[in-house]
Amino acid sequence: MSERILTFEQALAEVLTHARALVGVREVETVAVLAGAGRVLAVPVMADRDQPPFDRSTRDGYAVQAGDVARALRVVGSVRAGESWRGAALTEGEAIEIMTGAPVPAGADAVVMVEHTTLADRRLRVEDGRALHAGENVVPRGAEARAGSVVLPAGRVLGAAEIAVAASCGRASVEVFARPKVAIIATGDELVELDQPLEAWQIRNSNSYALAALVNAEGGFGERLAVAHDTLEELHERVAQGRDADLLLLSGGVSMGKYDLVEQVLREAGAEFFFTGVLMQPGKPIVFGRLPKQGEWTYFFGLPGNPVSTQVCFHLFVAPMLRALGGRTAVAPQFVEARLAEEVKGGARVTRFLPAELSGAWDGVAVRVVGWQGSGDVAANARGNCHVVLPAGVEALRAGETVRVLLR
Ligand code: AMP
Ligand code: MG
Repeated sequence: MSERILTFEQALAEVLTHARALVGVREVETVAVLAGAGRVLAVPVMADRDQPPFDRSTRDGYAVQAGDVARALRVVGSVRAGESWRGAALTEGEAIEIMTGAPVPAGADAVVMVEHTTLADRRLRVEDGRALHAGENVVPRGAEARAGSVVLPAGRVLGAAEIAVAASCGRASVEVFARPKVAIIATGDELVELDQPLEAWQIRNSNSYALAALVNAEGGFGERLAVAHDTLEELHERVAQGRDADLLLLSGGVSMGKYDLVEQVLREAGAEFFFTGVLMQPGKPIVFGRLPKQGEWTYFFGLPGNPVSTQVCFHLFVAPMLRALGGRTAVAPQFVEARLAEEVKGGARVTRFLPAELSGAWDGVAVRVVGWQGSGDVAANARGNCHVVLPAGVEALRAGETVRVLLR
């Protein structure tokens, strides 16, 4: 068997290359704008009119001519949000009371804040020495968006900010991409389903659930297939069931053990492999490739069975492919930098991803590695909320150092 073991950087680059090339035809659905939350926009949203649609006052105050505030001005009226000034255009010597969000009347080119004025007998005075420049406290019509321009490109996930934009353009519905279907296969003779009694030496299948939750959170639709035992026959049967999905995920059975048959089964099923291992921990035995499917391909990952490895590999490699299959343009895993609260010892020749807790407190953003028993320790992993990267070859990280953090 030809093995292809990559460094972490090479493996990530390989996955991202495949992910970014996935621009295939996808089904589009029309959904109510709020139901679009978390979905990927398939058709750009355009501004249906200039935004703002009029010169908008950003302050409560008086609409004036900017060069005309050294003398007392006559207040000739008032305009509030939801109204439009119906009187004659403002001329020199005049001011019009205006509220935040109201259209600036014709003839005025600035708004002076009410706090900077005094009013007596309808005569307005601007504070001594205060100058106003043209355009002050006014957002000109079309400054935020021109009618017909793209305000939300396709490929973006709709969050609250994007939904606000769609709603501001009068969009009661939006077009989104269909969610990619992901077949999830847990493998292992020791695995028992949640509703079954089990012996002390057996293990509950948690990976199928973790993976389904991760898939759903990334906008996919996870389908959990029955556990496959470590036999060629059962693995072939399960792969045959799963290979029509948009993405196939297997967990377990990719290490060097006698019963690790996943790679062999995928190979026999016609797989092309892009890598068969990565110099990282956890996650070393991961395999990535694709199976032929009626002139197309189904990408797959054979993920290590250790539950923390499974999850780390999902965040780093599976999520980018899934995002791309779902039509997203931003696919790469997200890293940030943070200050390390406590020393971390024990580097390795491979890139390590340590479960950690990033605290976002106002008085100290810091990250701390959680104590763990290795990549089977789901409880420790759940005490964290991210992973600290310990680069290959680095022996230790000192407290106070800035480290790279994988968000999840
Ligand atoms: P494997 O990669 O098959 O050698 O499995 C590595 C470790 O992960 C073993 O201790 C397995 O019992 C455990 N494991 C494998 N699959 C699962 C699963 N679906 N849920 C929980 N633990 C698993
Ligand atoms: Mg196994």
